[in-house]
Amino acid sequence: AVGSDLIRATLFPGDGIGPEIAESVKQVFRSAEVPIEWEEHYVGQEIDPRTQSFLTWESLESVRQNGVGLKGPMATPIGKGHRSLNLTLRKELNLYANVRPCYSLPGYKTRYDDVNLITIRENTEGEYSGLEHQVVRGVVESLKIITRQASLRVAEYAFHYAKTHGRDRVSAIHKANIMQKTDGLFLKCCREVAEKYPEIKYEEVVIDNCCMMLVKNPALFDVLVMPNLYGDIISDLCAGLVGGLGLTPSCNIGEGGIALAEAVHGSAPDIAGKNLANPTALLLSAVTMLHHLKLHDKADRIHDAIVNTIAEGKYRTADLGGTSSTTDFTKAICDHL
Ligand code: NAD
Repeated sequence: AVGSDLIRATLFPGDGIGPEIAESVKQVFRSAEVPIEWEEHYVGQEIDPRTQSFLTWESLESVRQNGVGLKGPMATPIGKGHRSLNLTLRKELNLYANVRPCYSLPGYKTRYDDVNLITIRENTEGEYSGLEHQVVRGVVESLKIITRQASLRVAEYAFHYAKTHGRDRVSAIHKANIMQKTDGLFLKCCREVAEKYPEIKYEEVVIDNCCMMLVKNPALFDVLVMPNLYGDIISDLCAGLVGGLGLTPSCNIGEGGIALAEAVHGSAPDIAGKNLANPTALLLSAVTMLHHLKLHDKADRIHDAIVNTIAEGKYRTADLGGTSSTTDFTKAICDHL
């Protein structure tokens, strides 16, 4: 914290549309008089000239010190032979759970009106361990790592989340009938944690069946917890249920209570710099950050202003079928505040 009433938070505007939508967040926060002071750092596709690296110690340290941050999209330079910055951030900050609230936005019509679920994705291992190699020519191998420690940690987070957010069911998503050892261990850990939360219902759903159930009737689910790759896919599927990537927020939870909120979409190079991007996903991510800071009043006010602006229909960006610019849409949200 800075001073007596300002909370310091890290802001990584990122690449492409990142700076435009980050500006929108700053403006909305100013209008809502959110007691946050942003500590802005650039992390993205440009190399830091002083260190010749993509990610500096200062940027990481800023998140570690502040404990909270907001991250715009970062472009991953293709073919330069380095790991995605998102993966590096996750590893360096030990961001072990990716939490995505996924709910129907009142006023924006999609196939379903009653989606209200949370996906919680294990973020550090599984198929994303980066252990791939060629065995002999024509045969490659990729290692999926599941550890008891990481599985217990994410399961614990999921049950704790359910309990503290008034949700009554956790579904573990798996393919343990085939991946008997890896997903088997993941489930075993979920069961162990479930025993500590008798008030929360616990169920296990095979991933293929889960996909079918989600598209048929998403209201069947409440909190879903799963290994890394399944989480990647299922969370995008869920984003599709409520209107797409322009609307979906997320938050990464790390060791020691770090929370780094981020929109799930990329840097949208096709519309970057044109004042066309929809800032909703980053704004709603910022709202999850405010909830994390227990600034629930501010979070609710901003959330309602966003929902009302979209519902009113006068100002919408092109991805939602409107003609508004990023700045006009942002101004409309500020007016609703
Ligand atoms: P993308 O999400 O950037 O774009 C996909 C499509 O969605 C584009 O047509 C884009 O215009 C549109 N779109 C995305 N966000 C939007 C918004 N807020 N408002 C309106 N339209 C929006 O995905 P991509 O094109 O596959 O990736 C582009 C770059 O982003 C790549 O370098 C990729 O590595 C990076 N990326 C970063 C993240 C992240 O930082 N979390 C996530 C995904 C992709």
